[in-house]
Amino acid sequence: MSHKFDTQRIRAGYVPGEHHYAVSPPIYQTVAYDFRDVKNALDLFGLREAGFLYTRIGNPTTAVFEQRVAALEGAAGAVALASGMAAISYTILNIAEGGGRILTSPYLYGGSFDSFTKIYPKFGIEFDYAKNIDDPAKLADEIKPDTKAIFVESISNPNAYLLDIDAIAEVAHAHGIPLVVDNTVATPYLYRPFEHGADVVVYSVTKALNGHGNVIAGLVLESGKFDWAKFPHFTQKYYTLRTEEGIKRDFTEVFPDDPFTARIRLNYLNYFGAALSPFDSYLAIIGLETLSERLSKQSENAGKIAEYLEKSEYAEWVRYPTLESHKNHALYKRDFPNGAGGILAFGFKGTAQQKNKFLESVEIFSYHVNIGDARSLIVNSPQTTHGELIPEDQEFADLPENLIRISAGLEDADDLIADLQQAFETATK
Ligand SMILES: *Cc1c(COP(=O)(O)O)cnc(C)c1O
Repeated sequence: MSHKFDTQRIRAGYVPGEHHYAVSPPIYQTVAYDFRDVKNALDLFGLREAGFLYTRIGNPTTAVFEQRVAALEGAAGAVALASGMAAISYTILNIAEGGGRILTSPYLYGGSFDSFTKIYPKFGIEFDYAKNIDDPAKLADEIKPDTKAIFVESISNPNAYLLDIDAIAEVAHAHGIPLVVDNTVATPYLYRPFEHGADVVVYSVTKALNGHGNVIAGLVLESGKFDWAKFPHFTQKYYTLRTEEGIKRDFTEVFPDDPFTARIRLNYLNYFGAALSPFDSYLAIIGLETLSERLSKQSENAGKIAEYLEKSEYAEWVRYPTLESHKNHALYKRDFPNGAGGILAFGFKGTAQQKNKFLESVEIFSYHVNIGDARSLIVNSPQTTHGELIPEDQEFADLPENLIRISAGLEDADDLIADLQQAFETATK
């Protein structure tokens, strides 16, 4: 029987009877797992029997976390990693291994933007920043013969821009390439990209999925619908995937349902090694238990703050999808029935000095670079999280100098608004 979202985020992927009836998933703090006998060792190594070998490539606590989010997303496979950046880099490498291009959007996490321009070209992977990401009908013209995938964020940070993922997926599939969606800000509670045509979903679990500002973690999930055999490295035969008779096989043969995440686990995680610790998996599982309540309260708080700012004399402009002035308000109404998440941005009206004073005058908001925490956070993104971007790129990404990003937490909205008000008054008096 398939359960609803709120049941799955509490129960999916875990059967207490398989773990001495422990109610809370145990932390399997172990490096390795004894073999029953020599046959068992050979079967595990030959992937003929499912089981655990070594915690770098799999751990029972981490598996609960992987299966739980896979259930929430409707994914065919999932692999947890030590950070969101590991999830993004292994995904990009697993697709464009050997070289090629990725078509992406101007509205990206600072670390993604920076690494796409700085690091990947050295591995033969070039990124094109789409000029028409908001107009998918024109996007096809931006796909080149060696474009291997499209990579976008479902709710962007810091402007909370939304995209027509369904239309972008159609363009990708018409060209035989996959669509990768970074769903970090939305989480499956607000948006499930596979239901809109995405092929791969990546997460920084660090943010709203875990939601407590105490874990760095990442996750890659796949829909199970994309035909990876189109990419020659997926049909390359490996001796490590051999049959009992010693015949080499490829990832699409051995893992027909989830070749993408299996290949990340057995190649990139195995050899590049960004393994998530069992303890951090446990914390992420506990964080997930309150996902719906947190995201719904954060969306409510962010909406109230956005409305306050829109009326405030201290804000030049405000960007949050529930506002009619937001450029993606129509997409918000179409695709986000559960809310628009905790991230919003506004333009500080005043001098740079007053803006700095404002940031130093808030008393409840924490001034730092995380998002999605239970606490409300505030930051001057263009000077910090997106500070590595050259001025032209900041303009292209729509990050005016005076932008301030808020990540709404779970405190009382009236207190948060009063805190902003007193900080504005202190900064400008
Ligand atoms: C933070 C973040 C990342 C990177 O995740 P880490 O867990 O910090 O490595 C990637 N994408 C988005 C949208 C993020 O907010």
